[in-house]
Amino acid sequence: MTDSALHPADRLALARKATADAGLDVMLVSPGADLRYLTGYQALPLERLTCLVVPATADAFLVVPNLERPAALASPAGALGIDIVGFGETDDAYALIARRIPVGAIRFAVDNHMWAEKLLAFQAALPAAQPVLAGDVLSELRIRKNTAEVAALRQAGAAIDRVHRRMGEWLRPGRTEREVAKDIADAIVEAGHERVDFVIVASGPNGASPHHEVSDRVIHSGDPVVVDIGGTTADGYCSDSTRTYAVGEPPAAFRELYEVLLRAQTAQTEAVRPGVTSEELDAIGRDIITDAGYGEHFIHRTGHGIGLETHEEPYIVAGGKRALEPGMAFSIEPGIYLPGTFGARIEDIAVCTESGGERLNLTGRDLVVLPG
Ligand code: ZN
Ligand code: ZN
Repeated sequence: MTDSALHPADRLALARKATADAGLDVMLVSPGADLRYLTGYQALPLERLTCLVVPATADAFLVVPNLERPAALASPAGALGIDIVGFGETDDAYALIARRIPVGAIRFAVDNHMWAEKLLAFQAALPAAQPVLAGDVLSELRIRKNTAEVAALRQAGAAIDRVHRRMGEWLRPGRTEREVAKDIADAIVEAGHERVDFVIVASGPNGASPHHEVSDRVIHSGDPVVVDIGGTTADGYCSDSTRTYAVGEPPAAFRELYEVLLRAQTAQTEAVRPGVTSEELDAIGRDIITDAGYGEHFIHRTGHGIGLETHEEPYIVAGGKRALEPGMAFSIEPGIYLPGTFGARIEDIAVCTESGGERLNLTGRDLVVLPG
């Protein structure tokens, strides 16, 4: 995909074509990453309807509450040359859209995150039409990042790396996970993110739960600690990186496990190139972990796409037949989790390029043993 295709005005043209190609009559996009991608408008998700309407055979238009219209006009959407239609507090926005949709529309698609109450209102306003999900159509537009998007992801990756490099300031025996997480959250914003998306500090046995967030557990000397953190930068792109630390010398069994994980994650990041399928990339790490006897303890997929959302297409998962293409950005984050004992995960964001893969997280992957 060429860069010129990614100006929002061009994105709208592509969305219209994709709507037609998918056999849809109209696509309805509510506030969220899809709307931001297509228009540049970072709309508030409200009980009042905001909706981009993309008919297959007519110009797109944006419907917003009157009180949001100034903000919509001031956003990049205001420069797209599309109709930005306001409605009053007592108007029926769904009926307004139904009247403007080309006559005879029978298949409409909604973005996958549209609130159920809004979908049901559209169904009531378009009783003869059948709703489907627009997720596949929209993710196909977003799945290959252009140069500017990769640069934004690179910048987000560098920002979260700066936080990981400071971990020794916060992670030490006697502090609780919650105390450490608060310091990390502050640093995520200081490092150049607009927003903190998540902070996982999983010490000792808590590290065996991949999505443990934080608790009041006190970190002890010798604990392995899984730290998985991410945020969103001002231009909307997300970071997500995991490193597992040891606070003081960890048990020998942990070092063994970590070496296996490091081999798996390294092999996977080195295998990124166009044509490799999602399931092949997943298997490269999973086989190493399984051969070392930890297969049943790698309990999730290898990774997820990342961009304007932390989790989006492509997913790197067993059974995933999709081949990597230049511009695809995704996490590579194998983990090994021993219930009741400890766990470890290493996560980098990688971008598939014409010649291989580029890692966007560049902090060291060898086990960092902090003073403990
Ligand atoms: Zn991730
Ligand atoms: Zn993560």
